[in-house]
Amino acid sequence: MKFFKSVSNILFMSLVLILTVALVGSAAAIQKRNTDLDEANSRISQYKTELENKEKENSSISSQLEESENLKKKYADENSRLKKDNDELEAEVEKQKAAAEAAAAQAKKQNTSQPAKDSAPVQTVPVKTGEKVCYLTFDDGPSENTLKILEILKKYNVKATFFVINSKQIGYVKNIYEAGHTVGLHSATHNYSKIYSSTDAYFNDLEEISDKVESIIGIKPNVIRFPGGSSNTVSKKYRTGIMSELTKLVPEKGYYYFDWNVESGDANKNTASYTYIRNNVLNGAKNKNTACVLMHDSAAKTTTVQALPEIIEGLSKMGYRFEALSDKANGYHHRVNN
Ligand SMILES: [Zn+2]
Repeated sequence: MKFFKSVSNILFMSLVLILTVALVGSAAAIQKRNTDLDEANSRISQYKTELENKEKENSSISSQLEESENLKKKYADENSRLKKDNDELEAEVEKQKAAAEAAAAQAKKQNTSQPAKDSAPVQTVPVKTGEKVCYLTFDDGPSENTLKILEILKKYNVKATFFVINSKQIGYVKNIYEAGHTVGLHSATHNYSKIYSSTDAYFNDLEEISDKVESIIGIKPNVIRFPGGSSNTVSKKYRTGIMSELTKLVPEKGYYYFDWNVESGDANKNTASYTYIRNNVLNGAKNKNTACVLMHDSAAKTTTVQALPEIIEGLSKMGYRFEALSDKANGYHHRVNN
C-alpha cells in the first residue's frame, strides 16, 4: 500500500510540475502576444495619423486645383472680353478710315468740278521750284485756346496768322502780335445777317474790329478774311451779289483778303475729333506746293489745339516750311458764289 501511495505521489508531483511548466509557458506566450498587440496597435494609430495627414494634404491640393480652375476660367473670360473690345476697336478704325477716304474722294471731286479762282497776280509771291510753303490760319479767336496755340507755335518755331473777332479775349491780339504772328481782321460781330446786309454794314463792322485791334497793338491790319470766306452762299439770304461787290471794294480800300485751299474741318462739328482734324489737313496738303490751312481758335475748338503738334510735324515731313500771311502772299481766292 505504501508503495502505491508513493507512486501516486510521484505521479501527482509530476503532474503538478508539468502543469506548472505549461502554465509558465502559456503566460510567457500571452505576455509576448500582448506586446505584439501593443506594437500592432501603435502602428495602426501611426498609420491612422499618416492617413489623416494625407487626407488633409489631398483636400488642400484639391482646393488649390479648384482655385486654379477658377482662375483659368476668369482669364479665359477676360481674354475673350479683350478680344471682343479689340475687334470692335479695329472695326471702328476701319469705319473711320473708310469715312475719311470717302470724304477725301468727295473733296477731290468738288475741287475738280469747282476750280478755285486764283488771286490777282499782284498778291502772289512766286514760290521757288520744289519749295513748299504753308500758311496756318486761325479764325474766330482770340480765346483761351489762342494762348495754347501760341505756346505750340513757339515750341516748333512756326509763324501763323490769326483772323480775329471782337471776342471777350480780344486783348490776346497783343500776345499774337508780340510773338511775331500776323494779326488779320475777320469781323467784329461775325453776324452774317448784319454784315452781309449791305456794303456799308460790312465796312462799319470791319472798321469796328480794326479800331479795336489798333487800340491794343497800335497798327491797323490790312489782311482780312470774310466770315464764311468769299465763296459763302449764306450771304445770299441777306443781299444778292454782296460778295461780288465786297471782293471788288475790299482791295480798293487797301485790304488784302484771304481764303484757303486746305480745310481742317474743325468747324464741321462743334468739337471734331483731333484725328479727324489732323487727317483732313495732312490729306488736304498732299500734292500741293502751297497750303493755306483753315482752322479755328474759338473757345470750343480744344481738339484743334490737340491736333496742331501732329499737323505741324506731318506738314514738316512733307517738306513744308511755315510762314505768316502778309499783303505779299497769294490770296487763295475762292470763286465767288454770290
Ligand atoms: Zn469765322
